[in-house]
Amino acid sequence: MIIVMRMGASEAEVGAVTRQIQELGFRAHLSRGEERTIIGLIGDERNVSQQSLELLSGVERVIPVLHPFKLASRDFRPEDSVVSVGSVKVGGRRVTIMAGPCAVESRQQLLETAWAVKEAGASVLRGGAFKPRTSPYAFPGLGEAGLELLAEAREETGLPIVSEVMAPETVGLVSGYADMVQIGTRNMQNYALLHAVGEAGCPVLLKRGLMSTMEEFLMAAEYVLSHGNFHVILCERGIRTFETYTRNTLDINAVPMLKMLTHLPVMVDPSHGTGRWDLVEPVSRASVAAGADGLMVEVHPHPAQALSDGAQSLKPENFAALVRSVSAIAAVLDREV
Ligand code: PEP
Ligand code: MN
Repeated sequence: MIIVMRMGASEAEVGAVTRQIQELGFRAHLSRGEERTIIGLIGDERNVSQQSLELLSGVERVIPVLHPFKLASRDFRPEDSVVSVGSVKVGGRRVTIMAGPCAVESRQQLLETAWAVKEAGASVLRGGAFKPRTSPYAFPGLGEAGLELLAEAREETGLPIVSEVMAPETVGLVSGYADMVQIGTRNMQNYALLHAVGEAGCPVLLKRGLMSTMEEFLMAAEYVLSHGNFHVILCERGIRTFETYTRNTLDINAVPMLKMLTHLPVMVDPSHGTGRWDLVEPVSRASVAAGADGLMVEVHPHPAQALSDGAQSLKPENFAALVRSVSAIAAVLDREV
């Protein structure tokens, strides 16, 4: 439920309503707008009466949120949320491009890629240090040494960094280095991990589970939000279907649908969404045209030698062409890369 306070309701009234909610066993989330304060109830609402809350002094109305995701819903916050990743603001008018290698492999590989994506127009550097791999024999990432290289690349280029976290125990480690932690498709419903990043309070890039509905995706985001961490960006990265020409099927519907349902920024990962470097640019254009707030693209200086996801990685020159082409689409929509 959302409690909308009257215009000009006093601090004492807001305080009294907040205390009442807490006495009922809820946590209160205050959102102070220019004109009025909105208080969100966090907890199980089944046994609370809307009418009794409406009688409290200073309350204008109480709105039940019909979606199972409460804090993520547009009913709770009608305006778009903007999430800061280092100095970069994701959401709003801008289309943010995050790019870099699937995995950090070496200092040379990372720095070369970082400079190339920066020059092409990316504003955030990605790179996996802890890699979830289908095979236990595949390259698992450099671990903390990879995070150190990412931090060095940030130091040199000024680009904020995003890197995946796979386990609750390493949330402190990864968020200590990275400006934003990524929760991968395989971990979207790892509730211990969602809980840990919620508590940590760091920015989170939450990728859609490859077998998850949009509602399950939003409920995963809700876990993070329910800890008071509202720094969440959603990322559509393709779902599994019967199709085999592409690695996944990018669900373009998810972009405008999620934008309708939630205030959180929505990005697209066309690299995992297609699995083919030659589809990444057209699908990026489609994503921006559909209203995505950003793209996350895998780039490698020598895709044929990549230790992971070479087939879907763009060479720097192709990435530069992608940025030019999506910038043109963004401009048509009165947005800017
Ligand atoms: C990645 O971004 O490299 C990655 C592993 O993504 P996903 O979890 O979407 O497969
Ligand atoms: Mn990858």
